[in-house]
Amino acid sequence: MNLIFLGPPGAGKGTYASRLGIRLDIPHISTGDIFREEMKKQTELGKLAASYINKGNLVPDEVTIDIVKKRLSEPDCEKGFILDGFPRTIAQADGLEHAEIKIDHVFNFLVGEEVLIKRMSGRRTCKRCGAIYHIETLKPKTPGICDKCGSELVQREDEKPEIIKDRLRVYEEKTAPLIDYYRKRGLLIDTDGDRPIDVVVDELVSIIQ
Ligand code: AMP
Repeated sequence: MNLIFLGPPGAGKGTYASRLGIRLDIPHISTGDIFREEMKKQTELGKLAASYINKGNLVPDEVTIDIVKKRLSEPDCEKGFILDGFPRTIAQADGLEHAEIKIDHVFNFLVGEEVLIKRMSGRRTCKRCGAIYHIETLKPKTPGICDKCGSELVQREDEKPEIIKDRLRVYEEKTAPLIDYYRKRGLLIDTDGDRPIDVVVDELVSIIQ
C-alpha cells in the first residue's frame, strides 16, 4: 500500500503517519525528518536544508526528489510506504510519476488555520532525543524539561510565529495545487484532521482495507 499524506504544516500528518505505519507495518517516510536528521549531523545536505527550512522555504525540488527516490528503493519499502510531507510541489509529484512509483491513495488532511497555528507554535522539541511536547495539550512533567531524557525543550526555528506564517503561505502557493492534481487522478481522499488521533487512524485503516 503506497500512500501520500497531504496537508498544511501542523495538520498532524506526522502523528497520523507514524501511527498508521505501525498498524500497517510499512515505513513512515518524512522528508522533514530526513532533513532535520542531516541538520543535526551538520552534513552538507543538512547545511543546505537548514538555509531553506529555517526561513520557512522549501528545499529545492531536485535535491528532495533524489532523496525520496533513493529512500523508496530500499527493501523495507517493497510492501508499501507512507510519504509524509512529500510531494510538496507539482514538480515533485511529477518526479514520482516519471519514476513510475505507483500511488494507491492520497489522504488530504483538513484543519482550520487557527488550529494549525496553535498546534505549531505550542510545540516544543527535546534538544537531545527529539521527543515532542505541546505547552497546552502534551505538557512535560517539569516545564521546559524532557520527561524521557531530562534535556532542555526548545522551540524549533521554523515553529516560531513569524516563520509559521511564511510556511502557511508557501503551502497555499506551492503545495495546495496538489489537491487538484491528485483529485483529477482519482486518488484524493479528504480527511478531517481535527479529531482525536485514534479516530482518524481507525478511519484511515478502514478506508484502506
Ligand atoms: P515538515 O517536518 O514536513 O513540516 O518539514 C519541515 C520543513 O522541511 C519544511 O517546512 C520544508 O522547509 C522542508 N521540507 C520538508 N519536506 C519537503 C519537501 N517535500 N520539499 C521541500 N522542502 C521540504
